[in-house]
Amino acid sequence: MIQKPYLKAFPDTKGYFGKFGGAFLPPVLIEQFQKIEQAYLTIGNSHNFIQELRDIRKHYQGRPTPVYYAKRLTEYVGGARIYLKREDLNHTGAHKLNHCMGEALLAKYLGKKKLIAETGAGQHGVALATAAAYFGLECEIHMGEVDIAKEHPNVVRMRILGAKIVPVSFGARTLKEAVDSAFEAYLKDPENSIYCIGSVVGPHPFPMMVRDFQSVVGIEAREQFLEMTGNLPDNLVACVGGGSNAMGLFSAFIEDPCEMYGVEPGGTGTKLGEHAASLTYGTEGILHGFNSIMLKNEEGEPAAVYSIASGLDYPSVGPEHAYLNTTGRTKVGIADDKETIQAFYDLSHYEGIIPALESAHAVAFAMKLAKEKPYESILVNLSGRGDKDIDFVVANYKPEDYL
Ligand SMILES: *Cc1c(COP(=O)(O)O)cnc(C)c1O
Repeated sequence: MIQKPYLKAFPDTKGYFGKFGGAFLPPVLIEQFQKIEQAYLTIGNSHNFIQELRDIRKHYQGRPTPVYYAKRLTEYVGGARIYLKREDLNHTGAHKLNHCMGEALLAKYLGKKKLIAETGAGQHGVALATAAAYFGLECEIHMGEVDIAKEHPNVVRMRILGAKIVPVSFGARTLKEAVDSAFEAYLKDPENSIYCIGSVVGPHPFPMMVRDFQSVVGIEAREQFLEMTGNLPDNLVACVGGGSNAMGLFSAFIEDPCEMYGVEPGGTGTKLGEHAASLTYGTEGILHGFNSIMLKNEEGEPAAVYSIASGLDYPSVGPEHAYLNTTGRTKVGIADDKETIQAFYDLSHYEGIIPALESAHAVAFAMKLAKEKPYESILVNLSGRGDKDIDFVVANYKPEDYL
């Protein structure tokens, strides 16, 4: 396995990628997180666990998802060949189920009864509620009241799937408060429950676990691309919220001669509050139990951020991205709202694929890159499908203005 040396060395045994990562936890939780780490390293590497997860991926999630050459989009852009890794075809319509099934399977092996998590836009909540239903586990999702009002369809989905929604009514009543509330609930009963993080963020071992569970994306894509073209892709492109779909793809190619671009949401402008481009504009800091690059306000607190794609709306980024970006192994791309909406319509119109607004950021950047590198290939991680976004898009950006 070509990628082994890097993946084995990072994170180190304390959960660091260079100076980023770690586990900054209240003393009562330190032992619980160490237990999760030990369980993951032993159970997660056992034959039965690996077999069961492979079986779930194939027969329940519908993996492998295809790699697809976007011929009409490529011709329209007139540059590098653009390929898509179709995570929009993964069960539930996005990549998030990859790590939720892994986390829930670990919970089952540990004899836990309940999965606890926070959700912002509801995507992680829906994926986790799906995993809970599959395994017959309880599921408790903490969600800010503002988000509950905004993300009604996902709230309904979670309820149908049998999850209990805990409305969070303090502070700004959004994602940050939901994290605090979920942690508190987990603290009350760490024996019977497990906290399931939604991206490659949070305290060690989560950035490592979530990356490993998502690495199936890159492992499949590398094989598929080689088989399809006889070569490795010259460029990889993925959007970065916390960074799980990007790390899933990148992790299989780190020791290959491929350029890797994590695309951040440029939003409506470069001022604080107009974007959520943490790597582009942020500085080092600790948030939600890990050290990384983050966007801060004047008081040094996590800044209020904006993204048209609620899944990219996070003031920090997974520690591994902070590390790979500082070493220069990965590069940062950016796509603003305007470019993203255009890409959303272009991919729909030229390929018959409606992308999630998160993924449309990656497509938008790939279209710019394709013009700069006309003789190369670009593999984009199409992290999810856009059904959840269609009402918002047509209400605010009329199809006739873009097609
Ligand atoms: C949540 C989400 C993202 C952002 O999360 P990452 O951890 O950065 O991958 C991207 N795309 C879709 C479709 C999502 O649901």
